[in-house]
Amino acid sequence: PTRSEKKTGKDACHVTVRVRPLTASEEAVNGGTVWQVEPSLGRVGLSEEFAERNRKAVVDYFFDAVQTGSDNKELYEGSARAVVRASMEGINGTVFAYGQTASGKTYSMMGVDEQPGVIPQAVDDIFGYIREQSGDREYLLRVSYMEIYNETIRDLLAPDQGDLRIHEDRKRGVFVSPLKEEIVTSPKQVMRIIKKGEENRHFGATDYNEHSSRSHTIFQMVIESRERSQASPGTPRRTGSGRAKGAVTISQLNLIDLAGSEKATSDTDRRKEGAYINKSLLTLGTVISKLTDEKNTGLHIPYRDSKLTRILQSSLAGNARISVICTISPASANSEETVNTLKFAARVK
Ligand code: ADP
Ligand code: MG
Repeated sequence: PTRSEKKTGKDACHVTVRVRPLTASEEAVNGGTVWQVEPSLGRVGLSEEFAERNRKAVVDYFFDAVQTGSDNKELYEGSARAVVRASMEGINGTVFAYGQTASGKTYSMMGVDEQPGVIPQAVDDIFGYIREQSGDREYLLRVSYMEIYNETIRDLLAPDQGDLRIHEDRKRGVFVSPLKEEIVTSPKQVMRIIKKGEENRHFGATDYNEHSSRSHTIFQMVIESRERSQASPGTPRRTGSGRAKGAVTISQLNLIDLAGSEKATSDTDRRKEGAYINKSLLTLGTVISKLTDEKNTGLHIPYRDSKLTRILQSSLAGNARISVICTISPASANSEETVNTLKFAARVK
């Protein structure tokens, strides 16, 4: 596939491909340059040398953004900030990290101490934004944290709750219940809540790594705001933003670390679990590509085909912003999964 025309909902979905650095052990066995990456062109392609050696066609993919290296600040600025800011203005937003296990999803979303990822940066940005509003608007923020494993939804903030259910009604749309939501007032508090949730992921999982690579984690923030009624008469009105004075604006921000996209291994159980994962990732790809394809307006969008897309239905439908960060490994050993990830990325663009 080559650079395709931008679809409608055109600004709706932003696709980034992020290539992590080789690890030391990969470096030791690296068989030449597999990928040619040109961030300035948004291009990722199979190198001629590798293609020739492996009798493969040289393919070029183009994306909204291509990033190499370890800089999570750059990732946030280029691939998440606009979505987060829009969510503060009443537009639903979702940021996904998609890719095979060990390609850098958690590094991108959560980050490490010296390189905080999308989630901690978004939290800081949100509280910074509220301060910038200099008393014009008042905000109510609520966070929740859940995990989908084997098509069961677990509340990471209330781990004993068991399998959560999805409901739908006319007023609230699609929602998960009984989901614990905590009202938050500082970045530190949010990060403490996330940490608590992370600890709860270990609950009942005999092999934490296997469990975490097969589950989707969804960090959700509900942002409610309204203009303060005592705003002085001279205060300029935010016309054109669709926010009437005094009316409550409500939106959702979802920051999602998806399950590993790799093919299931041979073991029967794994195949079963893998099938669930692949189904929800496949459905996610279908849903986003239909949402962003202008030719598909009015056509059926299969939200109901997976719990993940069903939970996100209210957030993805309508006026929403989506950013997909596809993480890939540069190693030749991973090139087959990397091609699969690039195909996914091209599909949702
Ligand atoms: P995933 O969540 O996709 O399974 P991780 O985020 O855990 O993968 O990444 C696997 C390893 O590679 C981790 O040790 C992580 O710190 C490292 N890593 C991933 N992406 C980067 C990056 N962009 N720069 C530096 N190290 C990275
Ligand atoms: Mg991970």
